[in-house]
Amino acid sequence: MPILRNTALACVAAVLLAPSAPGVEGKWTPQQVLELDPAWLRQLGLQLPPERLWDPRRGTGLLAAAVNIGGCSAGFVSETGLILTNHHCLFNVLQEHSTPQRDLMTHGFLARTPEEELPGRTTRVTVPRRFTDVTREIVDAVPAGASDLERREAIDRKQKELVAACERSPDTRCRVAVFDGGVQYVLVESFELSDVRLVYAPPRAIGEFGGEIDNWMWPRHAGDFALARAYKDGKPYRPEFWFPISRAGVRPGDFVMVLGYPGRTLRSLTAAEMALQRDGFFALRARIYGEWIQLLEQAARGSPEGEIAVAGTLKSLHNMAKNAQGQLAGLARGRIIEKQAEEEKRVEEWAARHPQWRPALDARRELDRLAAERRRAMLRDFLIESIPNGPLALRHATQLVRLAAERVRPDMEREPEYMDRELPRLRARLERDQKSFYRPADEALMKSWLRHALSLPDGARLQAVDAAFGGASLDEAVARLYDGTKVTRLDERMRMFGESLDQLRARHDPLLDFALALEPELRAYDRARREHEGAVSRLRPAWRRAVIAHAGRPIAPDANGTLRVSFAHVKGYSPREAVEYLPQTTLAGMLEKHTGEEPFALPQALLEAAAKTDPARVPLNFLSDADTTGGNSGSPVVNGRGELVGLNFDRVWENVANDFGYNPAIARNVNVDIRFFLWLLEHVDRADALLRELGARQ
Ligand code: ASP
Repeated sequence: MPILRNTALACVAAVLLAPSAPGVEGKWTPQQVLELDPAWLRQLGLQLPPERLWDPRRGTGLLAAAVNIGGCSAGFVSETGLILTNHHCLFNVLQEHSTPQRDLMTHGFLARTPEEELPGRTTRVTVPRRFTDVTREIVDAVPAGASDLERREAIDRKQKELVAACERSPDTRCRVAVFDGGVQYVLVESFELSDVRLVYAPPRAIGEFGGEIDNWMWPRHAGDFALARAYKDGKPYRPEFWFPISRAGVRPGDFVMVLGYPGRTLRSLTAAEMALQRDGFFALRARIYGEWIQLLEQAARGSPEGEIAVAGTLKSLHNMAKNAQGQLAGLARGRIIEKQAEEEKRVEEWAARHPQWRPALDARRELDRLAAERRRAMLRDFLIESIPNGPLALRHATQLVRLAAERVRPDMEREPEYMDRELPRLRARLERDQKSFYRPADEALMKSWLRHALSLPDGARLQAVDAAFGGASLDEAVARLYDGTKVTRLDERMRMFGESLDQLRARHDPLLDFALALEPELRAYDRARREHEGAVSRLRPAWRRAVIAHAGRPIAPDANGTLRVSFAHVKGYSPREAVEYLPQTTLAGMLEKHTGEEPFALPQALLEAAAKTDPARVPLNFLSDADTTGGNSGSPVVNGRGELVGLNFDRVWENVANDFGYNPAIARNVNVDIRFFLWLLEHVDRADALLRELGARQ
């Protein structure tokens, strides 16, 4: 079945299966969708002409209604700027506005008028506008004979130039997206909306019904949705496209498309690199984040203010830790790394017979050698990479020091995160974080981070940690650090935001002094990372081209946070021998799970409304065989006519490791059915005005 219009996209297109085959691997870019055979798409179930999804000349189409919101996906659902996404994607706005007296996380929120909507200080939405292949420009920017570090710097410089030129138009946000380590580079231009306000979120007991017990599981019964509104110049933003809501819903076998921003997958890595991700990333995440969860829970227990402060951090640590466990379990169960190694062997044998592919073999060997080298400092690198998820005080102190060092350099020579275009975000974040700061919890995380750092093997130690904390009792040293620092005070921190390195030094603040001492080691790590990225940009394309040539068919590019489309069908699966899962759940199943005890304690208002209806007729969640990953949360799920039937919010346990490899037998994502959202608004929240605005009520 010819499913490509032409073969130009062979490098980055997805693996193609006959329509009768189960599951379609591939997170397709908008351009790729247009290059697929329309007849094949029709056969799958797409009723719209593909050009309606994306018109590259105008830089718009229905896909422009699928937007990015922070690390999540979302969809416009009204001409008045309403955006539907997951409850867990707007949870931080709920946390930002919660107090012990008015706990919006617990009770939910509904703005009855626009004046009541709640601004998310750091929430931003980007609407896709243009995708330009800039591979040639990037590759040509690398001087002949460049070292890996020079290579990385040259690519970086070119990327910054392209982004700067692209962002000359107002309200425009651009980035150069790298596909499969450098097989292709695409300049992505988006329109940015920075005034985003929370309109509606159900109580936590509905939005995350089942909590961590049900997270990453099926059968599922969560109302994981929330509404925001985007504003432009103080008025509701009017998008050109939005998704009309389908009241008809879905049935088993129906065609659906998941439209969103999958973050990162690892399918193009070599087996040795995958094993490094397993041991140096997911195994450490599972262990150390698991420990941090316990510490945060203990530290905040019994303090209403502490519990609110740590709620967001705790939720994301829980999600990451359980995801890591799922990755480890899935890798072992699916023998994914072993299969990758077997596949590599086949490619190697083939390439050895074709002299033109010999350089690919060297490239792979070199990638593996680099992976083996990086094993030596695995824990140290993980601790450094985890600073953004760890103690806020450490994150802030290291950021303030780095900012002071970077700001004196010309804008285009700074690290991307510290360029002028990023400073308003960084400032907003430093301010907003105060809401999440709770000293006992932060101190506990700091101690854990330091304890791990003090346990590092010789050859991979952090001298600054040894010097400051290697001696006396860690408890006392950390208590003194928090007593003495002003970094944790909002007013002082915001003052530090504008200070130079000399000014920071002159403060003699113990935490800043520690961050200043750590800075050279963090710099050395960054330099090694950039050098490695330079090597990968040289080696990975060489190896991947051989893999693709050997396969003789297009292979999917890994997710990289850019807009993708996945074609799927509503479908159950078998998680293990003798067990068959149906693809849909209803309110009846939710009531069955209700025990009155968290996380299975439904609000009274829902129980009363449910008593007046036949709960088996209120669809709640459904499965489809879409190819999704983290970042796809909140992705609009639409039918063949482009009407909204649901929202993606999770994957099933057996499929968490699909980040490493797609398996059609278990590739299932979990969606909330739009009919449950409408039922809740209508019968529990009585949100008549919203329902009218959504076009779901006359
Ligand atoms: N729950 C995920 C997210 O937060 C979705 C997934 O990983 O499938 O993006």
